[in-house]
Amino acid sequence: MSRGQTTRQPARTGRQDKVRAARVGTGAFARPAPQGRQKPSSVPAGKSKGYNPLAPDRIAEILKRLDQLYPAVTCALTHSSAWELLVATILSAQSTDVNVNRVTPELFRKYPTVEAFAALTPEQLEPDVRSTGFFRNKSKSVVGAAKKIVAEFGGQVPDDMEKLLTLPGVARKTANVVLGSWFKKAEGVVVDTHVHRISRRLELTKENDPVKIEQDLMKVIPREKWILFSHQIIWHGRSLCPARKPKCAECTLENLCHAGDKTWSTVEMHKNAKA
Ligand code: SF4
Repeated sequence: MSRGQTTRQPARTGRQDKVRAARVGTGAFARPAPQGRQKPSSVPAGKSKGYNPLAPDRIAEILKRLDQLYPAVTCALTHSSAWELLVATILSAQSTDVNVNRVTPELFRKYPTVEAFAALTPEQLEPDVRSTGFFRNKSKSVVGAAKKIVAEFGGQVPDDMEKLLTLPGVARKTANVVLGSWFKKAEGVVVDTHVHRISRRLELTKENDPVKIEQDLMKVIPREKWILFSHQIIWHGRSLCPARKPKCAECTLENLCHAGDKTWSTVEMHKNAKA
């Protein structure tokens, strides 16, 4: 039976025992579902005979399907310079891109240059960024970064990881966004909340710490894909694979995914691969 012929009705339980038993996915890395209403396997990720979540062919298939799903995605934060992208990324912490994009057009009209931000005190900036949350810390970071860029980098956002990491409020995620999306430099993989969650669901990492997750991803994702992969996973997290109730029945990665919190499955799931 082809996938298109299968009636897909997520169960109230969130688990698709009956459907799982009638496995319809035949991807090269899909483990067959057990017959009947058996419990999902307790075999840990990567320990099942013949199944390796980090197998190069499986990774290549995931990347291929992401390319098909999200062929030309880019950063969703509105910006027209490295500085604007840096500010928008700092403001996006614990906020949504939509929320940040509501604030930044007026913000960049009011303060059009990095020098204009450097001339502020954090308190002066606070009312303009209040709606993005954590506004006191964000104001401190933005003004502090502006002052440092003007004083030490000639008013130019540096295109160098080490230098970026010296700016207040800038950790690897923000630095990777600026380096990848503006300077087109693949120095690492952006690990935001979506990349964190979905990399675990897809068993590309078992880590919880963003720095360790990034290290794992840098080992298994080809460098030329680092920038695009982050954008694709972020879009996937927004559209199909949110933290709560992922839309697995609509997901073309479904038969490659053994996440323990799937809402639909044609393959055996296990608890180790969950967000
Ligand atoms: S199958 Fe579900 S959990 Fe897995 S990647 Fe797709 S939407 Fe996310």
